[in-house]
Amino acid sequence: MAILVTTLGDRTLEQITGMLPHEHVFTDIRQGEPAGFGEGAVEDVKGLVVPWLERLQEQGVNCMVECTPVGCGRRVDLMKAVSEAAKFPLVVATGIYREPWIPQWAHDATLEQLYQWMRDELNEGIGDTGVRAGWIKLSAGDDGLTEVEEKILRAAARAAGECGVTIGSHTIRGSVVLRQLDVLQEEGFSPERFVWIHTQAEGDREYHMEAAARGAWLEFDGIGGSPADEDYLELLHTAIDAGFGDQVLLSQDRGWYDPAHPDGSNFKPYTYLMEAFVPLVREAGLGGWEEQLLRVNPFRAFAR
Ligand SMILES: [Zn+2]
Repeated sequence: MAILVTTLGDRTLEQITGMLPHEHVFTDIRQGEPAGFGEGAVEDVKGLVVPWLERLQEQGVNCMVECTPVGCGRRVDLMKAVSEAAKFPLVVATGIYREPWIPQWAHDATLEQLYQWMRDELNEGIGDTGVRAGWIKLSAGDDGLTEVEEKILRAAARAAGECGVTIGSHTIRGSVVLRQLDVLQEEGFSPERFVWIHTQAEGDREYHMEAAARGAWLEFDGIGGSPADEDYLELLHTAIDAGFGDQVLLSQDRGWYDPAHPDGSNFKPYTYLMEAFVPLVREAGLGGWEEQLLRVNPFRAFAR
């Protein structure tokens, strides 16, 4: 049976009322790891994030995918503490971001070592947190995969294939996504288990169609940010009209506790999508897709 591996244990589809596939609890995207990088006191992080998870739960969403990989200040201990305090399950990631955020140890590691590391985080757990990763988050540069990014992608394909999990990649260009799909297929990994994170950033819709036709998930995940709501509605309409409604994911890329703004001034509430965007979806005549888009699709995309 398909299950989601979360910070609070395994979840089946029956237990999910609503799910957001791309949000953040704690993330530090500063380059070069300045002083204080990835640091946050557990009480501060809980104080900022827990109330918003509770609000989200009141809106009918009771699970979230946390999209912070290694290289962006990933702190699974803090995610776990927040999750337990809010009684809100999070699906956390193994995997590594793109250059220049890739840490030196990953540059030095062999493909085999990277594969073993991801496999162990998926199967055994992350450090001493007792939390298993539920998926693999990666990224690629805008001008194509660098050598080290390709090494990480191939290692991810092997670990994800073995563990039956999904790979998601922050990839801005459609041409780079198609190259990633080629590499995954060379490794025997199905594009159906690949999430194209930030699909909306690629303006050429032909790439959306091509990636979806190969089986990939299209993730429109900056709702409440850029572009405007109407543009997201149009992207959604286009994908549904093309027959890819069961491969679309909607999210906000919001949150998050940011150690560069420890007062929380940078935090963006998780409640926008349910509050402001879902009514627009209904007005556009797509209300019949709500359950598919906000519950079934994200569960299917991230379950193992
Ligand atoms: Zn993100």
